[in-house]
Amino acid sequence: MTDIIIVGAGWAGCAAAVAAAKQGARVKLLERTDMILGTGLAGGILRNNGRLTAALELEAMGGADLFAALEPTLRHRNISFPGHDHADLYDIALAPGAVLDCLKRWGVTLRTQTRITGISMSADKTSIESVTDSHGNTYAADAFLDATGTAGPTANCARYGNGCSMCILRCPSFGGRVSLAALAGVRELEARRPDGTHGAMSGSCKLMKESLAPDLVRRLNETGVAVIPLPPGLREDHLSLKACQQYALPEFAENLVLLDSGHAKMMAPFFPLDKLRRIPGLENARYEDPYAGGKGNSVRFLAMCPRGGDLKVNGPDNLYCAGEKAGPLVGHTEAMVTGTLAGYNCAAAISGKPPLILPRSLASGEAIAWTGEEMRTPDGLSRKYTFSGGCLFERMKSLGLYRTSPGEIRREVRALGLENVFSEPAG
Ligand SMILES: Cc1cc2nc3c(=O)[nH]c(=O)nc-3n(C[C@H](O)[C@H](O)[C@H](O)COP(=O)(O)OP(=O)(O)OC[C@H]3O[C@@H](n4cnc5c(N)ncnc54)[C@H](O)[C@@H]3O)c2cc1C
Repeated sequence: MTDIIIVGAGWAGCAAAVAAAKQGARVKLLERTDMILGTGLAGGILRNNGRLTAALELEAMGGADLFAALEPTLRHRNISFPGHDHADLYDIALAPGAVLDCLKRWGVTLRTQTRITGISMSADKTSIESVTDSHGNTYAADAFLDATGTAGPTANCARYGNGCSMCILRCPSFGGRVSLAALAGVRELEARRPDGTHGAMSGSCKLMKESLAPDLVRRLNETGVAVIPLPPGLREDHLSLKACQQYALPEFAENLVLLDSGHAKMMAPFFPLDKLRRIPGLENARYEDPYAGGKGNSVRFLAMCPRGGDLKVNGPDNLYCAGEKAGPLVGHTEAMVTGTLAGYNCAAAISGKPPLILPRSLASGEAIAWTGEEMRTPDGLSRKYTFSGGCLFERMKSLGLYRTSPGEIRREVRALGLENVFSEPAG
């Protein structure tokens, strides 16, 4: 017997699963590939700029289990790189194991290679009764949560990018992303680039560290960062393409910025290999993810759900959403914040408890509320929202919501009556 089915085991789905399980719900997490963490398998950066605030808020609210699970996997703590302060970098090879342990601890049932492709609605079409995978297995539950993200499938990367970039999501092997909300008849929203075209290209690649010069590898291992100035002839004009507007700064066009996430995380959506190999230290550079990083990257943000501040999808009465599905919110932290809230509210709903809407006096509450409003406007859909930069970070600063003191944040959360709210029974 299952209470809640969560589709998609990226950061949002994993956070939602833990939050719902902490509320006592029996949770099944369904993932189409053979690995958890989705695009988080290619990420690594935490706590940079306003993401620190959001992480500390989540901790004070008792919802930071995944941050705690990641602690032993951190390769670098409290580092700076252009435009970004106090960042941590997790090891992308170790993170999935740490999160699997956490899911197991909370009794979440995980099914990998389970790609949801079908849905059964109630006779009056108001709620979802079950979902079906591509092998014909059916999963029934009281409530459902769409955490399928917005990356791919291949047709989107071909249409709005430079073709399948052979990223970690491996659509040709496991089948592309299928949105649960779309199966339920929800009309999803698409992000627009400033020039009016659709979606946004992922903003970083991984280079195989062993393919880089030894002194560059040493620098990355020791400091976590390498900023390599690019002569004008080797610069690429990518900034307007990027999903991650926090990195759309001139420093990222004038330099090649590398970060150590186990591999060398290169802060550019793609970079032609012949040009890359003309940079000292990168003469033998080789892409690790996406494999075709010399040509392109995954395209995202083509399938977001209209939803409320409680992250219930506008439409079926037992469907919630989180992560990129919940709006043009970019980042692991953003996915964990929305995942935790959506998982909690899903569990609250099935036990007849009122939903939680985070107040706008917290950075997390403001991000969820403002993004929800912005998604309703064409201008809003042309921007991306992250605690770590761009318009949301500017807004946090202007509203006095960018706080970095754990004590101050805990006091604020306590004053709002939300201390440990995610680790205590709803209601
Ligand atoms: C290359 C790259 C680098 C990044 N680097 C960083 C970084 O360093 N720091 C940071 O904060 N953010 C980074 N991001 C952004 C961040 O990874 C995402 O915004 C966030 O992790 C999204 O999480 P999600 O759970 O919403 O979606 P996803 O990570 O896309 O997860 C969705 C999951 O759902 C699964 N799925 C889809 N359809 C189905 C279906 N029908 N049935 C079952 N499963 C399904 C997918 O396989 C996937 O595992 C990066 C993104 C990319 C692409």
